[in-house]
Amino acid sequence: MRRLFLAGLVTALLPLVGCGETTDSSESEMRPNLIFIMSDDHAEQAISAYGSQLIETPNIDRIASEGIRFDNSFVTNSICAPSRAVLLTGKYSHLNGLRDNRDEFDGSQMTFPKLLQQAGYQTGIVGKWHLKTDPTGFDSWRILIGQGEYYSPIFRENGERKQYTGYVTELITDFALEFLENRDRDKPFLLLYHHKAPHRNWMPNIKDLGRFNNPDLPVPETFWDDYAGREAAATQDMRIEDMFLSQDMKLHKEFYGEETGTGGSDVSNPEPAWANSYGRMTDEQKAAWDAYYGPINEEFKQANLQGRELTEWKYRRYMEDYLGSVHSVDENIGRLLDYLDQNGLAENTVVVYTSDQGFYLGEHGWYDKRFMYEESLSMPLVIRYPAEIPAGQVTDLMALNLDFAPTLLDYAGVEAPAEMQGASLRTLVRGETPADWRDSMYYHYYEFPHGWHLVKRHYGIRTQRYKLIHFYNDIDTWELFDLESDPNELNNLYGQPEYAEIQSDLHRQLIDLQEKYKDQPGE
Ligand code: CA
Repeated sequence: MRRLFLAGLVTALLPLVGCGETTDSSESEMRPNLIFIMSDDHAEQAISAYGSQLIETPNIDRIASEGIRFDNSFVTNSICAPSRAVLLTGKYSHLNGLRDNRDEFDGSQMTFPKLLQQAGYQTGIVGKWHLKTDPTGFDSWRILIGQGEYYSPIFRENGERKQYTGYVTELITDFALEFLENRDRDKPFLLLYHHKAPHRNWMPNIKDLGRFNNPDLPVPETFWDDYAGREAAATQDMRIEDMFLSQDMKLHKEFYGEETGTGGSDVSNPEPAWANSYGRMTDEQKAAWDAYYGPINEEFKQANLQGRELTEWKYRRYMEDYLGSVHSVDENIGRLLDYLDQNGLAENTVVVYTSDQGFYLGEHGWYDKRFMYEESLSMPLVIRYPAEIPAGQVTDLMALNLDFAPTLLDYAGVEAPAEMQGASLRTLVRGETPADWRDSMYYHYYEFPHGWHLVKRHYGIRTQRYKLIHFYNDIDTWELFDLESDPNELNNLYGQPEYAEIQSDLHRQLIDLQEKYKDQPGE
């Protein structure tokens, strides 16, 4: 009760901090620090706070249990660079100009780090950026080039290139701690701490090899989905069955005959990509890598697996490496949380953990993201701020990545510009339910026919119970799911007479959302 009362008092005082004005030290002491942790392709299914059967993630769980976990947190466009542009601008892809991974981010536009910088925050980003143009609005930046590499990655540091020996997740954390250690102690700070992991091609840290080796790991219940009634789901190229033996399974040439995977791309020969990933390791790392995987790969070669057996083997190798990569993310978040504790920063720092989208861990037979189906539409979201957020909360109110910019501005006492389309989560995470909170969300994905994985363009609406999707461009198909009776989205109800009323209501709501967010139905 006392904490809630004090939190209310702090909130009441916040409007005194003017938008964009310089502040004296008493005000800056009062404003919270902001640490926004985003990993890449981390599915809720691989976080124990979300009930994962695959892995324990004690440090991410700690953020959840000491704060709040969102069970209905979604992205508006489930792919890497577009999600990051939504984060920075608080605007949908069609308005921030970054629809798919080919586009470049226009760094001259309004972003929340710029507004925080103007409001007296020290701003920094370390790790994955992936927006092609140089970061703007940051006092310091140390970013990977493009997707980055797991071993011996090259960083760009305020414009200068520098290669480091080591493992990417540990290096990014070292740089985050360095930012904190060297911070201007007269200012509050914003740190975007963005991991590359667990993005493809899922290379674990050497010390974690073998940690998730499980030859008995069962495949998910939808693993052998036949995609009946879902034309776009049937025509993608993101099945585990089609993963590359080289770059994805990380097999050296001597362990297989011909590369049979399509890998979701038009890359005709993926072997050089694996040669590059492996070649970046030091001799010592290579020796440890081969000592672990060599006997397993030899066993694979001898077994000469075919058909479903081969696909299930690929699934288990994928999961072993994916979970290994996640483990390091969680472990390193623990280092950051420990630093906050040891330096008296825990109480007055907002810590957000999320991912740029969800991911398929074998559901529907897939890896990757893109679809508006639950696994990739969902993003993990947990937030801790002991000074204001009561511990142990779980909410099913809908949060979107559109909300991050207005939320972080709200904590800094900076008014969100009217052009931002999300809403601040601040009141909600204090434990109150805002009266007019959204009960549906709008989605739009664009990366087709160019790009990876051949997922058709689509847009749609998700309510608490239903989902309506329109796939367009070179097809014209609608899908309707009842998430209550069919949480795995296998049964397309579109056009069924008993759902006619629900269907037309969803169509109306969809048009309303497109008007609200100023999006035109696609062509
Ligand atoms: Ca991603």
